[in-house]
Amino acid sequence: MEIIIDTSDAPGLVNFGQVVKSTLVEWFDRVGDILESPTYTPPSQINVYFDPNYDGVAYASGNNIVGSVDYYLTHQDDIGSMVHEMAHVIQSYRSCYTNDDWYITEGIADWVRFFHYEPASNRPPKPGSDNHYSQGYRVTAYFLDWVNARYNPMIYWINKDCREGTYNHQIFDRLTGKSIDQHWQEMLASLGLPTDLKPSDFEKDPYGYDHKLRHKILHSH
Ligand SMILES: [Zn+2]
Repeated sequence: MEIIIDTSDAPGLVNFGQVVKSTLVEWFDRVGDILESPTYTPPSQINVYFDPNYDGVAYASGNNIVGSVDYYLTHQDDIGSMVHEMAHVIQSYRSCYTNDDWYITEGIADWVRFFHYEPASNRPPKPGSDNHYSQGYRVTAYFLDWVNARYNPMIYWINKDCREGTYNHQIFDRLTGKSIDQHWQEMLASLGLPTDLKPSDFEKDPYGYDHKLRHKILHSH
């Protein structure tokens, strides 16, 4: 496996690129193990390109990761976002990209990042009553970790189904006897939060992303 770093359009990120490379080399096998499933085939190469014309943070597409030059020039401590993108490359999911389940993909990528790569001091905060599991990223990561701690290895089965293109929210009912919503409400109750809020009460797309774009490109946040 090879990590190819292209800073040809980012002279200010040459050193940063080397830090990214050594981090991704160190974490490649670990993330592959964390997201193991029977059909997992490790990519032989991951290309990382820093794009001066991209105004987001970073995204992954196939075996390619693109990072924003502007963002990383001022956020050289944010290696974790690159681990999140490498998780997307390794996920190589066939499903979990629709409006109804994209947040599973983002939640698992952030779970890899925050519950494995980042130090414990960077763990996502406990969700509040204005959060919902369908927000993706840290909130979904926290939720999935909470369920996984009680029904280990729940994330293994979710990851397997997304990768094999068979994921459906019914997996929660099937494997635990409780729906995804019931788990969320139980988690809220365990955190001392009200459980009578309906999904429609929540801001479902706090970052204003175009979910159609998610079919092709997975944004980091
Ligand atoms: Zn992402």
